[in-house]
Formats: sequence, structure tokens, C-alpha cells
Amino acid sequence: MKKDDCIFCRIAAGEIPSATVYEDEGFRAILDLGPAAKGHMLILPKDHYADVTELPEECAGPVLMLGKKLGMAAMKGLGATGFNLVQNNGASAGQTVRHFHLHVIPRYDDGAVIAAWTPGENTAEEREEIAQAVRAGLE
Ligand code: 5GP
Ligand code: ZN
Repeated sequence: MKKDDCIFCRIAAGEIPSATVYEDEGFRAILDLGPAAKGHMLILPKDHYADVTELPEECAGPVLMLGKKLGMAAMKGLGATGFNLVQNNGASAGQTVRHFHLHVIPRYDDGAVIAAWTPGENTAEEREEIAQAVRAGLE
């Protein structure tokens, strides 16, 4: 279902113009206004889901396959040599628009890496304790 006060719902519906690279019944893929790299795309489901926690299974498979397809298209069409599929959930994870979207970010041989973090450290005991807490979260 579309949400009238959601900007990505309105873009996905074509009410607000966007540089669309792909569209089908369920999705619209557009160019990001603030690209991390040339060809940075966003895949928007036409139905409103705030984030992945609301995304139904029938949407999750196709959105990943579309990410793959568009990443490969950027390699072929733009000369990218790789791509990141990035998806943020919640403000602490960097999500700024509360309509599920998958970022497709083409990468080039310029040395810039975006999905990078400084590896931390933990002990075997800490890992076991954390794994146990996550397993408890599955219940
Ligand atoms: P998030 O931080 O929520 O994962 O990503 C939001 C993304 O949407 C950002 O990369 C931002 O540049 C992009 N964005 C925000 N508003 C618009 C818009 O109106 N049009 C387009 N094409 N991109 C937008
Ligand atoms: Zn929406």
C-alpha cells in the first residue's frame, strides 16, 4: 500500500519525477540525488514498507535479484568493476528515508571503498555470549 506523505512512495508511483533506470509492477529503480559513486541507484518497492523488518518474503527475493541485475548493468553500461548492495534499517544504521530501499552502488578501480569498518576485537568467551544472546533473539 502507498503512503501519501512518503516521498519514496510518491517517487515510486511516478508522482514526483525521477531519473528512472528500471520499472516494473512492483518496483522502480532511480538514480540517487546524492550519489556515493557514478550510477548510484535506489530500488524502491511501490508498496510502502518502512524497512526490512516490514518487507514481505515475496518482495525480498525479487529486490535482491533486481539489485544483482542493476549492479551488473552498471558494470556493463558504466564500466564499473564491482558494486555494493547496501540497505539501512533504522536511524542508528544510517536510514534517513523510512521507506525500504536497496542501494546499488557501482564501484570503480579508483581505490575508494565504502563498505569499510575498522575490525574490532573479541574473545572466544565474548563471541559465545553474544551468539547466545542473538540465538535467544531468534526465539
Ligand atoms: P538512506 O540513508 O535512508 O539509506 O538513504 C536515503 C538515500 O536517498 C540517500 O542516499 C539520499 O541521497 C537519497 N535521497 C533522498 N531523497 C531523495 C530524493 O528525493 N530523490 C532521490 N533520487 N534520492 C533521494
Ligand atoms: Zn513509502
